[in-house]
Amino acid sequence: MRKSLLMVGAGLSGAVLARQLAEAGHDVTVLDTRSHVGGNCHTQRDPETGVLVHVYGPHIFHTDDAEVWDYINRFGRIRPYTHRVKTTSGGRVYTLPMNLHSINQFFDAAMPPAEARAFVAAKAVTLPYTPRNFEEQALSMLGHELYEAFFKGYTAKQWGCEPTELPAAILKRLPLRFTYDDNYFFHTYQGMPEDGYTPIIAAMLDHPCISLSLNTQFDRPLAQGFDHVFYSGPLDSWFGQDAGALGYRTLDFARLVHDGDYQGCAVMNYADAEIPYTRVTEHKYFAPWEHHARSVCYRETSRACGPGDIPYYPIRLAKDKALLTDYIARAHCETGVTFVGRLGTYRYLDMDVTIREALDCAALYLESLAHDRPM
Ligand code: FAD
Ligand code: UDP
Repeated sequence: MRKSLLMVGAGLSGAVLARQLAEAGHDVTVLDTRSHVGGNCHTQRDPETGVLVHVYGPHIFHTDDAEVWDYINRFGRIRPYTHRVKTTSGGRVYTLPMNLHSINQFFDAAMPPAEARAFVAAKAVTLPYTPRNFEEQALSMLGHELYEAFFKGYTAKQWGCEPTELPAAILKRLPLRFTYDDNYFFHTYQGMPEDGYTPIIAAMLDHPCISLSLNTQFDRPLAQGFDHVFYSGPLDSWFGQDAGALGYRTLDFARLVHDGDYQGCAVMNYADAEIPYTRVTEHKYFAPWEHHARSVCYRETSRACGPGDIPYYPIRLAKDKALLTDYIARAHCETGVTFVGRLGTYRYLDMDVTIREALDCAALYLESLAHDRPM
């Protein structure tokens, strides 16, 4: 039977879910408080320079999931792109992720791979237990000098707390390589949408069974009359934050326009604690097939998220985890709603994982209908 479904949020989670459910023959109303689709993946042309800008921070598509890769390629052209990041530390520029070049540069050496591996292993701090936090993870991988030069200051700026308070898993996202490979990611597929992410997400939402309302803030009474709600807004907001607010970091972007090249690469990180910003993104390097005389950069600063700020990174410190457990338990008791995406589940999700989870969620919902088993 044809269902009437409400999708809160027109980001990647909302668009993939809406598309899958519409293709299965259901009517989907999608609403978003913003004036555009795409959520935090939103891209638009900078009015002054014409450069395609990643409005909410740099987004690079990378995945090992062939089905997800095929899925996104259905909705727009993804061009080959390899992300390479530089970092400035102590007034010198190095390549990231930590690789043979950065190690040799930093120690003013010319070590081959095996020698560098042994050299870094000798610097690494041996712990009698599995690293319990970010700092211990970094020290046990790299030792004091590399940790302090590249990770300690940046991490404190990014997360607004001591690296000892953060989970080890955050560092595990980054590889340590004893080769000159400076590809930031290690996935099979990597690319950049030729015209940006927003047209891809708009194409997903372009279906006769989908109706879209932008500039529309969801409130619980709006759910009335729908057979099911998929909610990609913040989990705590569903409950009016009645048990407290889950902690997020927000970002401020200072826009700089420059004649010619500003820094000569897409992303330059700033590792030193004394420099208040974390990184500068020069957007034209995300579309190397385009040519622009002028350049636009975003200088990014991280701070605690207050009321009215955009929530970017879930913090998941001990107090957030306790609150999260409480909200998750309550979410399980709710009927007629499924919590999805990075805000709805309070997790950091890359775009490929977001798509995978949305595809799986849609499949689960359709299966529950087929078996007359409410989700
Ligand atoms: P969102 O994109 O946040 O979309 C949620 C939507 O819901 C928003 O449009 C919001 O306005 C709307 N909404 C929320 N509450 C309400 C409400 N009450 N009423 C109406 N609408 C509402 N991933 C990668 O794979 N590669 C990267 O390089 C990468 N870089 C990133 C950089 C940054 C700075 C950040 C923060 C994330 C990055 N990501 C990256 C992750 C990527 O942004 C997410 O995977 C993706 O945005 C998740 O989509 P979503 O739809 O779940 O959430
Ligand atoms: N990090 C760092 N220095 C860098 C880059 C990253 O200390 O130059 C740390 C930082 O804590 C960051 C984590 O490593 O949150 C993971 O890096 P990633 O590039 O995945 O950052 P994110 O996606 O969180 O911006």
